[in-house]
Amino acid sequence: MTQPTLAAPARKGREDLRAPRILVVEDEAPLALLLKYNLESEGYAVEHAARGDEAEVRIAEGGLDLVVLDWMLPGVSGLEICRRMRAREATRTLPIIMLTARGEEQERVRGLGVGADDYVVKPFSVPELMARVRALLRRASPERIATRLSQGDIELDRETRRVTRAGRELHLGPTEFRLLECLMQKPGRVHSRAQLLDQVWGSTAEIDERTVDVHVGRLRKALVQGDEADPLRTVRGAGYSFDETFGRR
Ligand code: CA
Repeated sequence: MTQPTLAAPARKGREDLRAPRILVVEDEAPLALLLKYNLESEGYAVEHAARGDEAEVRIAEGGLDLVVLDWMLPGVSGLEICRRMRAREATRTLPIIMLTARGEEQERVRGLGVGADDYVVKPFSVPELMARVRALLRRASPERIATRLSQGDIELDRETRRVTRAGRELHLGPTEFRLLECLMQKPGRVHSRAQLLDQVWGSTAEIDERTVDVHVGRLRKALVQGDEADPLRTVRGAGYSFDETFGRR
């Protein structure tokens, strides 16, 4: 038995092709867990802070695409965090969804007043919050959050999580789906195994890089039927890419 190798959690230089990163700031542990679980199953990279001051430290480090911010927090309040984020150049336009307690109409108004992009009243429906997250991200970076990715006869729909080739539906596992999504975002770009591990499995996952090969193999098998062209390129010693000439030959 060989020891599994660790994926290098290097983030620099490929901010543009990673999954959107969301910080959940919520002190109620069960709710934080529910949010994390649901956001992760939508394909986002999720971080959590249970205190306001802790959240501020994380936000200052950068690299976030959206913040889900509870109003009532130990340390610094959500309202104050929001106000401070809007006062700083680096976080002025970072999307914020505030979570407020039921019926606190005035809080809602104040939340929007200090610059939150949206608010959700507790208890909220998870699908509704997910829809708002998607909408905000799409507004903030439309190219990365395009609902449909399409190359040649292959189409991937992020909202319905469906993939078709020449109109026939492909049944991909969640990992193969994310893998294809990641490769299709940047056709022609070669992704190393470590990059794919970081983006598809998450940078903290302790997974052997050969796992990537196994899942690429499965993805390829699902994508290619009979004598159809293979859209995935294996670049020896480098990694994988989605062939940018696919569908144009
Ligand atoms: Ca709270």
